[in-house]
Amino acid sequence: MFRDLTCRFPGCSHPAEKCDYDHTVPWPQGRTQASDLKAYCRHHHLLKTFWGGPRGWNDVQHPDGTIEFTSPSGRRYTTTPLGASFFPRLATPTGDHQPRGAPPPDSPAKTWAMPRRRRSRAADKAARIAHERAINRARTDADPPPF
Ligand SMILES: [Zn+2]
Repeated sequence: MFRDLTCRFPGCSHPAEKCDYDHTVPWPQGRTQASDLKAYCRHHHLLKTFWGGPRGWNDVQHPDGTIEFTSPSGRRYTTTPLGASFFPRLATPTGDHQPRGAPPPDSPAKTWAMPRRRRSRAADKAARIAHERAINRARTDADPPPF
């Protein structure tokens, strides 16, 4: 978090403290250490996870935290960790950056896709409010206020 300070996607300034941490080399082949992790806001984490591969966004992370992105159109972008520009020691490699073994083969049954909502955000909010009101009603019915 202190190394990155913001989401590492090109042009994004979402604060790192509110970001997800993404393994550049997917776990378990990738290690959970700073040299293989980077901050992505939820939007860019989903973008990287579900729109990667040969026709999507790809990234390569160097041990010092520098990330090189390739867009679906082939453009290349490089981001450097903002915190390391203030404190260069934060860009020190944290360990072996090589993947542990070969990734497991993709199963033909692999059906990863962008998660879909079962109901709209408005319906979620209405259900949450109705649930809270039911709890409050049960509480006040059981122990009415003294006035
Ligand atoms: Zn972002």
